[in-house]
Amino acid sequence: MKIMVAIKRVVDYAVKIRVKSDRTGVETNNVKMSMNPFCEIALEEALRIKESGLASEVVAVSMGPAQCVDTLRTGLAMGADRGVHVEAAGQLYPLTVAKILKSLVEVEKPGLIILGKQAIDDDCNQTGQMVAGLLSWPQGTFASKVVLDKEKQLAMVEREVDGGLETLELDLPAVITTDLRLNQPRYATLPNIMKAKSKPIKKYTPQELNVDVKSDLEVIQVTEPPKRKAGVILSSVEELIDKLKNEARVI
Ligand code: AMP
Repeated sequence: MKIMVAIKRVVDYAVKIRVKSDRTGVETNNVKMSMNPFCEIALEEALRIKESGLASEVVAVSMGPAQCVDTLRTGLAMGADRGVHVEAAGQLYPLTVAKILKSLVEVEKPGLIILGKQAIDDDCNQTGQMVAGLLSWPQGTFASKVVLDKEKQLAMVEREVDGGLETLELDLPAVITTDLRLNQPRYATLPNIMKAKSKPIKKYTPQELNVDVKSDLEVIQVTEPPKRKAGVILSSVEELIDKLKNEARVI
């Protein structure tokens, strides 16, 4: 079985986000970019499945500008066998990404697709659900545990829900999206970084996959959250209770 993993290039989680002066988006020029953390978890899970003998190949897929190749190389250094880069300039919205993934499924024929539950740049949390919908495949979102049964062609997915844990059984092929506690992604070792340089990355354009990148969605404006007001230091518990009662009116 082949596993396809979608990995997105995003602004590094440790970078302080700055909104562009024209408010069309966030600044990405001269900003450190990395693999979306939930995608690292998705790739780690695929690699663990392969290492346990339940998959034969892990294909990492990234969509976006030319620099996505760097993200793919990181994925290849972690252990993915091959990369696929669908090169597209400009913003790609979740429905477009889902359509591209659906087209790639027709080419690659994976038995499982693993995605992050959300990309930390747009926080959409939509792509996995959309690709499952387009393919009419079962989906296990926010997975905190994944167990495959090769004989029965099933995936058992544990999900963290408000009241506790929910366990789903999915027929393969299926779509899984990863939550934070699923695993601890590995670091790429130096020998594997060197090896990754010679692993193949296949290129496509969205047009070659018959996907129109034009979206019905338009971002009107991006603004920074309002600055927080400074707090006050109170001298006594009585003063705190008075403020909670008479100013905040919460008690
Ligand atoms: P989102 O729905 O945008 O929050 O993204 C959820 C997941 O979809 C990400 O964690 C990735 O696995 C995948 N994804 C979204 N956009 C891309 C992209 N441009 N390239 C590769 N994977 C993507």
